[in-house]
Amino acid sequence: MKIQSIRFGMLGVPLKTPFKTSMRTVKEIEDVVVIMETDTGHVGYGSAPATAVITGETHGSIIEAINKVISPGLIGREIEDLNTLTDSIQNSIVKNFSAKAATEIAVYDLYGQLYGAPLYKLLGGGDNVITTDITISVDYIDKMVEDTMAAIDLGFETLKIKVGKDPALDIERIKAIYAAVNERALIRLDANQGWTPKQTVSVLRTLEDSGVQLELVEQPVKGDDIEGMKYVTERIHTPVMADESSFGPKEAIELIRMRAADIINIKLMKTGGISNAIKIADIAGIYGVDCMIGCMLESSIGVAAAAHIAVAKSSVITKIDLDTPSLGQYDPVRSGVQFNNAEITITDLPGLGISKIDNLTMLDIKTAPKKNWARKSTG
Ligand code: MG
Repeated sequence: MKIQSIRFGMLGVPLKTPFKTSMRTVKEIEDVVVIMETDTGHVGYGSAPATAVITGETHGSIIEAINKVISPGLIGREIEDLNTLTDSIQNSIVKNFSAKAATEIAVYDLYGQLYGAPLYKLLGGGDNVITTDITISVDYIDKMVEDTMAAIDLGFETLKIKVGKDPALDIERIKAIYAAVNERALIRLDANQGWTPKQTVSVLRTLEDSGVQLELVEQPVKGDDIEGMKYVTERIHTPVMADESSFGPKEAIELIRMRAADIINIKLMKTGGISNAIKIADIAGIYGVDCMIGCMLESSIGVAAAAHIAVAKSSVITKIDLDTPSLGQYDPVRSGVQFNNAEITITDLPGLGISKIDNLTMLDIKTAPKKNWARKSTG
């Protein structure tokens, strides 16, 4: 099975309710979809959203990086040479993690199809049912409590509360939600870099002293402030999770060795894809550090890939934050991963098992063997 060409499409899904964090408000999921075609007729899919404030990438930069820089090293290569392909993707360009992730997801999808097995089985196997949390966007207290109650009614047992706007108001938000939840669900906080280290310690100590029990607090301070993360981790009882501070395996090693975080949040769009996500899980496992697997606000193609990794690495990836398919008004993607509110189930379909993508707008860009281009330009 040889990679013959790579094409691109755009996929949009309107959200049920705007997604609000301390950094941004988003109303629609919009992904670049990578369509990898082979000489056997098998097609692999990958996807990536634009998250300029996190990875520095836009839809345009993702397409350009894949089309011009990453794909020339892949066209004509055999899918069975998986490690050679992932090395080529990772070494073709610095950073550009989401572009690399979208490409790797398509390659791994085809690798699964080549051997007729769902991806998680090729990565080591596991229990094919996992449970995700759901995100509650930062908003007025009444609205957050209302969203919380709706999530509990849908069967979610873990809630990820977005905070990080204003420390005093955040304390009120969390107390109100904690009281309303009344031990029916576990609460995680995600401050999305919204607090300073001292504010974080103050907020968390106030909450801890008032009896609010939180499972963890995610990325309270700026992503590049590793010293700040360490300052917080040393001073509060609530476990601290690194999200925007953790990209690839090197950052994970540094965070763990510095004891700057208790938990690592793995996202394919930050690691540069599946190969590095696996490395991080294995590194964390060596040190006895738990991981979460998360996703961006992205389509269920990339989230499906994350679910496969979560199942295969479940001894380390003990926390699942793959809720974006249930935040959309509908899911245009039919794959081997079924998202049913809190419950995610993986079927036995090969690879990612993608059989249909509705409303995919194809772009007039195709990466194909060089000779085609030469013929065109000399013709
Ligand atoms: Mg986060």
